[in-house]
This record gives sequence, C-alpha cells and structure tokens, in this order.
Amino acid sequence: MSLDLPTTGCRSTPVLKERGQREVFCGLTGIIWLHRKMQDAFFLVVGSRTCAHLLQAAAGVMIFAEPRFGTAILEEKDLAGLADANAELDREVARLLARRPDIRQLFLVGSCPSEVIKLDLARAAERLNGQHAPHVRVYNYSGSGIETTFTQGEDACLAAMVPTLAPSVSRELLIVGAMPDVVEDQCLALLSAMGIGPVRMLPAHRAGELPGVGAETVFALVQPFLGDTHAALLRRGARHIAAPFPFGEEGTTAWLRAIAEEFGVSREVFEAVTAAPRARALKAIATQSAELRGKRVFFFPDSQLEIPLARFLVRECGMTAVEVGTPYLHEAIVGPDLDLLPAGPVISEGQDVEKQLDRQRAAAPDLTVCGLGLANPLEAQGFTTKWAIELVFTPVHFYEQAGDLAGLFSRPLRRKAALRKEAAE
Ligand code: SF4
Repeated sequence: MSLDLPTTGCRSTPVLKERGQREVFCGLTGIIWLHRKMQDAFFLVVGSRTCAHLLQAAAGVMIFAEPRFGTAILEEKDLAGLADANAELDREVARLLARRPDIRQLFLVGSCPSEVIKLDLARAAERLNGQHAPHVRVYNYSGSGIETTFTQGEDACLAAMVPTLAPSVSRELLIVGAMPDVVEDQCLALLSAMGIGPVRMLPAHRAGELPGVGAETVFALVQPFLGDTHAALLRRGARHIAAPFPFGEEGTTAWLRAIAEEFGVSREVFEAVTAAPRARALKAIATQSAELRGKRVFFFPDSQLEIPLARFLVRECGMTAVEVGTPYLHEAIVGPDLDLLPAGPVISEGQDVEKQLDRQRAAAPDLTVCGLGLANPLEAQGFTTKWAIELVFTPVHFYEQAGDLAGLFSRPLRRKAALRKEAAE
C-alpha cells in the first residue's frame, strides 16, 4: 500500500518568514510533562518568583508527596550581583540531594533571570557533576522565555542528554519524544506485534533505562518540535527515519510504515497488525469530524505541531487550511507532512504578530488555533479558537487517540454553534 500524495504538496511552497514581535509561551512549561515521565529526575529551575508561579499554575492543583520540580529563587541580591549565586546554588543542590536520595538525574533549568545575570549553568552542572556523580547525573538546559516557544523546553532537555548517552553498537530503534504512558504502551505494542525491536525510549522512565546511541541506532521522532535533539542524535551517528507524524489514522499508518520498511516487516504482517486499529481510528474520526468538514482553519505559530496537525485536519477531517504558522520549520523533520499537505495555505515561519492578526482578520477563518495570549482577545472579537497548548497536554498520538484529536478541534465549533442557537432562541 502506498500513500496518496497530493499532486502538489507544500514542500516547495515559498515560506513567509517573519521576524517581529511574537506571542509565545515559556519553555519551562515542558517540565510539567517531563517530570511525570522521568521518575527519578528533578527539575530545578534557577529563576525568579515569576518562574515559580508559572510552574505551579501550569502544574495545576496536583499534590505530589515528593514533587520532582522546584525553583531556586534568585533574590534581589543575586540579581544585583551582591551574592555569589553559584555558591548558593551548590548549597541548595547539596541540601536537595541529601534529602532526596531517589533523585538520579538533576536538571538545572535556566530562565530569563538566570540568563540576564549570565549565570553559567553549564559550568555549574559540570562542577556539580564532579561533586555528585555517579549517583546523580547533573544536566543543564535553558527553559527561558526570552527566545523560545514552550515546546523548546522538551527539545532542549532531551538534546542536553544526548551527548551523555552511552555509545552503542547494537541495531536498535529509538523512539524520541515524551508521550503519556498509555500512548507509549500502544506504540510499543504495535511495534512489538510487527516483530520490531529492540525498541528504546528517550526520555526513559529512569536513568538506568537510558538508551545507548551509535551508528546502528535508527530513530523516529514522535514530536515535531525536537529539532536540536534530532541534530544531536545525528552528531552521535544515529540515522533518522523521516516520516509524517503519528497523528490521525493516515499519519500513524505512514509513521509505522516507515519504521516497518526500515525493519523489513512484510506487507501482510503490517496489514494484519494495523487493520483493526485503523478501522477504529477512521470510524472515530468520522464521528468527531462532522463539524469540521468544509470549515477553514488558521494556525498561529505556537506548539510546533502546526504542520502535522494541518495535514491531519485537511486530509482526514475535510478542513481547508488558510495559513499554517510555525515558530520554526525544520524541513528534515516536517518535510513528509509538507508533502502530504495539499498546496494552498500560506506557510509562515516565525511571527510578526500584528501583521499576522491582520491576515487572520481578513481571512475570517471558522477556527483559529493559537496560544493562550491570543485566544481570549480573538474570542472577544467573535472568532472561535483552540488553545494550541492543549494539544501537548492531551494524549493525541496514534490510532486510539485519533478521534479525540479531531474532537479537540470540533468541540469549540460545536460549543459556538450551541451558543448561537441559544442566543437566537
Ligand atoms: S518567561 Fe522567563 S521569567 Fe517568565 S516564567 Fe518563563 S523563564 Fe521565568
């Protein structure tokens, strides 16, 4: 079976590149899903009270017996250079690790304030590794909101780990990107039913399960926002299996097929393993996408999921994409999705928010996918919006979630229609 490619996809569409004011969310957000995944890790944000508030607000009201993230607050005297922030950080880390022997991986996460005062967290991680290795491995990455979009936090975190992974000479499949456990299990079950293995995950649940990497490693991404991690794995000699992302029935099938071909899985086995979940996915999408058919969608750049999601909405849910904005466009990563997205929409990279708002108003789309900061003002102007961040917090990958993914987009349209009906009565 082969993919039904549009006569002209968007791979060669000229990209509108904008470098103006941006409306994006901060990279610290990734800690919320990463700390759930990595069960012996601790994320120590070196930041301000604002960073601490953001984390607590984003984490919601969940109470953990022992939280796996926290903030080392930079006080006025640190910011003014009156205190030795490095010495304070060393003290805080020593106290934390003494109290929490379960921590095996410690991430020092940079923030706007730590970057403004030029606190060198790479050197701090090196110094702390000297003190706490081998029991604890200390990494550092930036979650700062100065120049990032929120999904870059996960990318920076995983990219920081890649150079420290053990060398490997085994032929292994590495799946890269954090997924909720239930979705990860579905992914592993499909691969195992096709006889594909060994399969390793990055991030792993525990430090002891971290994969090795080398020239025999082939890797597949499950998130399109992992540009730096992709580059870091290539530098370690691993090979990327480029494929559309596993969103929707078609995306999931294409992603699995690319891996199946790499591992020489027969067509019969592939069909036998995928036929039933594909049929379930198609049925669920059909039910959830009725409101989406014939509607127009506009994507502001935010989650970096925009291109694969536009492909899903256009090809599997019958929508028309007017503009697909993405913070960054890595052709090596989203090229296969661009091939499938029929030519027509403006493909934009980066942002000049005022200009983009003008284009959005002129287009008057039925649905606008955007960040939190734009959603409320646009709703107030009568537009129907979908918060991009929900797409990262909700299980949306693979066959069993395909209906829910369509539902995430159809729900705001259904709600708007119900409100209009109510107002008319
Ligand atoms: S944008 Fe900067 S200051 Fe604000 S929470 Fe994020 S890292 Fe902290």
